[in-house]
Formats: sequence, C-alpha cells, structure tokens
Amino acid sequence: MTAREFDRIVERAIARVPEGFRKRLKNLAFVVEKEPPRPGLLGLYQGRPLPLRSVSEPFAMPDTITIYQGPHERMAHDEDDLQRIVNDTVWHEVAHYFGLEEDEVLKAERKRRISQRQALRKNQYNRERNL
Ligand SMILES: [Zn+2]
Repeated sequence: MTAREFDRIVERAIARVPEGFRKRLKNLAFVVEKEPPRPGLLGLYQGRPLPLRSVSEPFAMPDTITIYQGPHERMAHDEDDLQRIVNDTVWHEVAHYFGLEEDEVLKAERKRRISQRQALRKNQYNRERNL
C-alpha cells in the first residue's frame, strides 16, 4: 500500500473518533511514518495531555500522534481489518491525549468495543456520540 493510501485510512480513522472527543482535539498533529522506533509499536502520542496544560499558556508546540504504517500492514489480513486496527490505534493514542494512562486506555478500549457491538446490533450509532 502506498503512503498516500495509508494516509486515507488514517484520515478515516480520525473521522471515526466520536464527535464529542474529536471537537476537543486542539493543537494536535497526526503524522504517519513507515516504521516505528521500536518493533511492534503501532502508534505514539507525544506531548502534554490536556489535563496537564494551563489555560494561561500563551503558546504551545502541537502535540503529535504518530501512526506507523508497517506494523499495521503486517498485522492486518485485509483492508477492512487494516482499517479496524488503525481505528483502534488512533483511538488509543487520542485517549492518551485526553490524559488517560495506559491501563485506563485499555479499559476505555474494552468499553468502546462493547458499546460499538451493541450499537451495530441495534443500529443505534448515536449512542457513541454521547460517550
Ligand atoms: Zn498506550
């Protein structure tokens, strides 16, 4: 897959972050790189989580979320699967932006998967917006 095609997958994943969270993503840049600095790393959040920032800060460098293409491609068995894994990685790193620690992120992921399944089954996508 070309870098451009992978970019589009990442863009779709960002668009799928529930709106209530997406609206609060400020001063945050998404970056795509081919390979991670450590093997097995899918994504990386770098910056200062939202709860640690002061409102009086006049200027802050943007936080970055880096998504690594290679490990996602090697893990996925088809393009739908790739999209799903990238969705999960984007969500995982966005949760760090909101100040969740690793164990809290994993808990939130489990909850999200359950609520997604319910939403699909009952065809109630609106539920996710109210998370
Ligand atoms: Zn994490």
